[in-house]
Amino acid sequence: MTVPYIQLKYIKYHHGKGFLCGHVEALHAMPPKADLFTDIIVEEVMKSTGCASIISTVSRKECDLNRSVNRDNEEGILEYRKAIQDITVYLHVYDSSCQEIIKPYLQLSFHGMKNEHYGPLAMEIGTRNGHSCSLEVKDWLEKILARKAKEFIPEITVVFDQKFIGDPSIAFHRHGTGKEYAGYGPNFHTFQIEISRTIRQKYASEISALFAYILTSFQSTFVTDTNY
Ligand SMILES: [Zn+2]
Repeated sequence: MTVPYIQLKYIKYHHGKGFLCGHVEALHAMPPKADLFTDIIVEEVMKSTGCASIISTVSRKECDLNRSVNRDNEEGILEYRKAIQDITVYLHVYDSSCQEIIKPYLQLSFHGMKNEHYGPLAMEIGTRNGHSCSLEVKDWLEKILARKAKEFIPEITVVFDQKFIGDPSIAFHRHGTGKEYAGYGPNFHTFQIEISRTIRQKYASEISALFAYILTSFQSTFVTDTNY
């Protein structure tokens, strides 16, 4: 089944089914210099959970969306931020009066790292040392990965905030930039997830199933509300 994405100039995105409070994304999905297979992981998680998704449709060499605004990427960044707002409005979690979101929201940003960093079966989660999420949600994710990741990929190594702590821009969705972007406040939690080449290429369905589990667990742990 082809996903009916909303196609823009720099990205394509989908609202999902309007239930799970979060989205998955692949901001470096397009060659040259693509994080190969991250778009496939995004689509698998979206199809199994009904969450929202964002996939870049231009190369990071032309417009890098995982960065602060600069001369080359401004139009793309504004489009990307607008898509996030559109998703939060669709979920009925955006409060336009205070310009914050009113329910816990999970953003999982998938990227690719080389096998040489931690071996062929590894993943690094970046949070800018806890700046892009709450301590509670970071602790929760560390515990859930320690418990669950090896069920999906037995030899996997998972590290947090060591070599790849995430681009500074991942914290903007929570804290804003202090200038042109207000951010969404303390309910917004972003993780930059660097996945080794071998996992992306050979274990795409396993890693997708792991993150589908994480999204649904986040919902039942933090977004528990009978209206959802
Ligand atoms: Zn990347």
